[in-house]
Amino acid sequence: MNIYNMTFDNLVDYFKSIGLKSYRAKQLYDWLYVKRIDSFKSITNIKKEIIDKLDSDYYFGKIEIIKKQSDELVNKYLLKLEDGNTIEAVLMEHDYGLSLCISSEVGCNMGCKFCESGRIKKIRDVTAGEMVEEILVIEKDLNKRISHIVIMGIGEPFDNYNNICNFIEIVNNSNGINIGSRHITVSTCGIVPKIYEFSKFPYQVNLAISLHAPNDKLRNSLMPINKAYNLNELMLSIDEYIKKTNRRVTFEYIMLDNINDTHDCALELAKLLKGKNCYVNLIPYNETDNIGYKRSSKEKIMKFYDTLKKNNISVTIRREFGSKISAACGQLKTMKEEA
Ligand code: SAH
Repeated sequence: MNIYNMTFDNLVDYFKSIGLKSYRAKQLYDWLYVKRIDSFKSITNIKKEIIDKLDSDYYFGKIEIIKKQSDELVNKYLLKLEDGNTIEAVLMEHDYGLSLCISSEVGCNMGCKFCESGRIKKIRDVTAGEMVEEILVIEKDLNKRISHIVIMGIGEPFDNYNNICNFIEIVNNSNGINIGSRHITVSTCGIVPKIYEFSKFPYQVNLAISLHAPNDKLRNSLMPINKAYNLNELMLSIDEYIKKTNRRVTFEYIMLDNINDTHDCALELAKLLKGKNCYVNLIPYNETDNIGYKRSSKEKIMKFYDTLKKNNISVTIRREFGSKISAACGQLKTMKEEA
């Protein structure tokens, strides 16, 4: 078992199961995430027998940086997992801190028509431990601490639900990496049963929904997930989420020229979201070589923005990051290593 898969409570249980006190979990988290050792042999305040036991039960997962591209305030990392699969992670420098966009799956099965990441089908889940390692390896590379996590890289987080929940628990734990739950955002294309489940998840993280269309006809044509869970079902689950958590939800809306950026779409969207505790984040579409959609013009985006505003919907336009190095949303790729 990869030691980075272990939540704090898992470690407490583990130490109890071998007859040791629970404070050992705190000691171990300190070595792993504060001191950042990469071998049990470096531990000095735990007896040799216990270290040997740990060494036989766990290993230190290692992911490797195989490529790094930089563009002003963005670094894109190509990371190699232990089995040779690769994923990407993107680090963004904001005025409020460093935010890391991590991948949750190798490939993606959601098949959104506009997204590069879904062109390779899902190969496997990224484990909770590997998501933790995405942070550790990049912090080591930078020699800086990451303050915010967005789970918006390759993959659909709610298609890897348990690992995502464990990951949040691990990085949020105050004995370890200690990233505040309000600094963590999960983005989903709308897997409705998991939104209900997530409304009971006891961490105050942010939820973003990739909406991209204000009606079923258009959403069906862009996002196959909408055929499984239509807009009405999606909105009901979000209402429940808001009711249970009392948290504001973000709706992401990419601006595709002549597809979903018309005045009628803006009005329809305003109607759909009326009265909800939410805001809309308009995302200028990042064009990719392999997909035919075009980005809406600045004027159209501004008009759409104004229409939402006039109809009392909170709205922002996403600042652009990393488009020169294909590090922007929907441009990340899984690659299989050449044999
Ligand atoms: N599967 C999750 C998280 C990954 S996608 C989800 O669907 O939310 C992160 C965001 O980038 C989503 O809102 C996605 O729809 C958006 N996106 C995908 N391709 C894009 C592109 N080419 N330009 C801009 N945003 C894109």
